[in-house]
Amino acid sequence: MESDILQTPQEAPICFLCQGIFMDPISLWCGHRFCKACLILSTEDMGIPDICPICKQPSHWMFIDNISLRNLVSTVRENSLMKYLSSEEHKCVIHKERKTKFCGESSALLCQLCSDSQDHRSHTHCTIGDRVSMQMMKLEKQMASLLKKVQKQQENVKAERRTIFQWSPALQSEFQDSQGYTEKPCLEEKTIEENHYVTLREEMIRTAYSQLYPPLDEEENQYMACMKNQSSTILEELRKTEAMMVHKRSQLIEMYQELMAMSQKPYEVLLLQDLDDLFRRSELVQLSLMTPSIKPKLSAHSSTGLTARFSCFQVKIFFQNLILLNCPRLVFDVRRFTSRPCNENPFLAVPGSYRASFGAESFTTGKHYWEVDLKDHEQWAVGVCNNVWLKKRNYKIGSKGAFLLVCFKDGDHYSLFTTCPTFHHYIEKPARRVGVFLDCEGGFVSFLDVATSSLIYSYCPGTFHCTVRPYYCTVYT
Ligand SMILES: [Zn+2]
Ligand SMILES: [Zn+2]
Ligand SMILES: [Zn+2]
Ligand SMILES: [Zn+2]
Repeated sequence: MESDILQTPQEAPICFLCQGIFMDPISLWCGHRFCKACLILSTEDMGIPDICPICKQPSHWMFIDNISLRNLVSTVRENSLMKYLSSEEHKCVIHKERKTKFCGESSALLCQLCSDSQDHRSHTHCTIGDRVSMQMMKLEKQMASLLKKVQKQQENVKAERRTIFQWSPALQSEFQDSQGYTEKPCLEEKTIEENHYVTLREEMIRTAYSQLYPPLDEEENQYMACMKNQSSTILEELRKTEAMMVHKRSQLIEMYQELMAMSQKPYEVLLLQDLDDLFRRSELVQLSLMTPSIKPKLSAHSSTGLTARFSCFQVKIFFQNLILLNCPRLVFDVRRFTSRPCNENPFLAVPGSYRASFGAESFTTGKHYWEVDLKDHEQWAVGVCNNVWLKKRNYKIGSKGAFLLVCFKDGDHYSLFTTCPTFHHYIEKPARRVGVFLDCEGGFVSFLDVATSSLIYSYCPGTFHCTVRPYYCTVYT
């Protein structure tokens, strides 16, 4: 029946991908036209592609004048419905009249006389046109919601893949080959996602052990073995979650395609369709999106003698209160730390205040060690900053000139980061005291979980060459 509308291909409201009638049509410069959803679902990225999926030409896109095309589509479909209803075989068998009414109670099409009859007296009837509009409206609403979920799920898959990349040495070497790296690039030269987390950590811990005396080869090797074990378990878990996420995404897409097929059925079929079951299933599949569920964490591993080594450089730091503000977003610009879109950022919505303090004394030479007790605080930052950063007075964590270890709460989880460059640490949050070791000549700062005598992170030597001041801040929510 709908082949009638295919007579002039130029005018045909047919999508090049699903071969069905357009929903939210988009036209590319090459002339190919698609349902917006079909175009989105045709790419792995679940976004509008830069290249036309049919002719592969780079293609800008634009929305077609939705209203006129929509009108064209519905006129064509309505005409087809009218033709169907006025045909002899579909007229009312009793009254030989054209059916114009829809009865929800009996799910039947009725002529006016049947509609007025005794049998239907207590029913509410509507016109066939209204029924069709209602069905289409419900379908479109459900489809829009489902498409959003598909895109959301794709975001989750991408986030999980970024994490996997950091945990998978195989992916890393593939990536480096493709980038033509000849030497191992240093942390600063790469973005956060390009580092193999465990390798980086391994190098850092080996360096720390090389400075301990007497040498603790056995302990060091045990540490490395334990870390490797944990990381392969983590990678396995991440891959499992990724697979489940991808599966969920296909379920959502399948459901979408089912709704799409329904919406493209001829009106005379759609009219009598009970959509309740379809919608129930659609809502059910939308209920539990798979989010990156495991937060990979290596356990803190104690290194004998680490605290003792740092303690010989212990200095007393007098912290001065610097500022008290009621706006945590000023300090914790979390968008820099996470891959999440800012509107989903729990931090920005949380009212609270933060207190930042800096040391009375600044350091240009020597090695210095101090500890900060953070047990009563959920979210904090500790480390050193240079004078330029302090003078700027915006105190934005993550901005240039502050070398910090940051702990922030994200839902039920805590995440640790270091700044300049922003780097996510997949290790346990220190329960209480954090030790800060500053080496001015070396130009770096290290952080230590005092209770477990384990190294949290050590900046690359030569990270800074300037006078720095101890700094810490805590956030109250
Ligand atoms: Zn389509
Ligand atoms: Zn094209
Ligand atoms: Zn009748
Ligand atoms: Zn009725």
